[in-house]
Amino acid sequence: MNNWETYVRKVVPYVPGEQPKESNIIKLNTNENPYPPAPGVVKALEQFDTDRLRLYPEPDCKVLVDAIAEYYGLDSSQVFVGVGSDDVLAMIFMTFFNSEKPILFPDITYSFYDVWADMLRIPYEVKPLDENFFIKKEDYYGENGGVIFPNPNAPTGILMELSEIEEIVEHNRDVIVVVDEAYIDFGGKSALPLIEKYYNLLVVQTFSKSRSLAGMRIGFAMGNEKLIKYINDVKYSFNSYTMNQTALALGVEAIKDKQYFEETRQKVIATREWTKGELKKLGFSFGDSMSNFIFAAHESVPAKELFEALKKKHIFVRYFSKERISNYLRISIGTQQEMETFIHCLKGCLK
Ligand code: PMP
Repeated sequence: MNNWETYVRKVVPYVPGEQPKESNIIKLNTNENPYPPAPGVVKALEQFDTDRLRLYPEPDCKVLVDAIAEYYGLDSSQVFVGVGSDDVLAMIFMTFFNSEKPILFPDITYSFYDVWADMLRIPYEVKPLDENFFIKKEDYYGENGGVIFPNPNAPTGILMELSEIEEIVEHNRDVIVVVDEAYIDFGGKSALPLIEKYYNLLVVQTFSKSRSLAGMRIGFAMGNEKLIKYINDVKYSFNSYTMNQTALALGVEAIKDKQYFEETRQKVIATREWTKGELKKLGFSFGDSMSNFIFAAHESVPAKELFEALKKKHIFVRYFSKERISNYLRISIGTQQEMETFIHCLKGCLK
């Protein structure tokens, strides 16, 4: 090894789901929304004045921060936006997880948490989910350098009661607790109301799932004004212009259209419930997902086999070759028609 290589920040990167180039596929592998963005988003993009691209975007992302604050009934000082919730979460890790004590998260959870922790040299400890994949709240009561978990959890889809979340926050008044609500709009109760009561709580959400804008990269954090100020200080020390002009303009349109949001989210929920029924009939078992995916294992056919068989039929789902979950498929919810085709093909794979 050459000398300079000793000083490289060596990391094992996060591996995102595949983005296949083919168009004749059913893509159920990255929890995207199968419906297009709100009509106002499409119109704003068509009418976007490209001359504005000569100029830097506003560094404080004010238009979008204000629109999110208005939607959730917050003050703008309680909102931070970033390039997808991945960016927001990375900034949060950098800002708040600087203790010698380990941060805590579940053993089965969003697989970016340990990647950020490793990259930023943050000590961490994973807490095993119980045998039914539920988070055990008591595991998070000991001394630690911070707590993070998704609600609903990913990739299990299992929701934690708000009262249990409050107990975790209550037991951790000296550190920051982050609830990653990437999938909360598909059936869960947000922890947002708790930010007024607990100054150590951050709630993180995204436009990638329930607002059909994964390609625009918009995420946001909500919490006490002081916490948001600290995240902004780190952001401005890293990159002042995180959000591009189009993301700011389209994000505002996406959050404004409550009716479209409600319609598409209800469609996804209805299709998810239909899919659960069909999967059950085919011999799958799964927790009661409250997200836009189902994490399911078959009674006899190994998940890896099904994953490959489905791929041959141009249907992409997600498979993780990880301990405890290597017999599960994570199936994102597509349109009703896509899910009917999926179930039909799955029947063929199980024969
Ligand atoms: N949190 C969880 C739990 C996720 O599954 C994802 C999606 N990969 C993200 C955060 C990040 O989503 P985005 O950066 O698109 O907002």
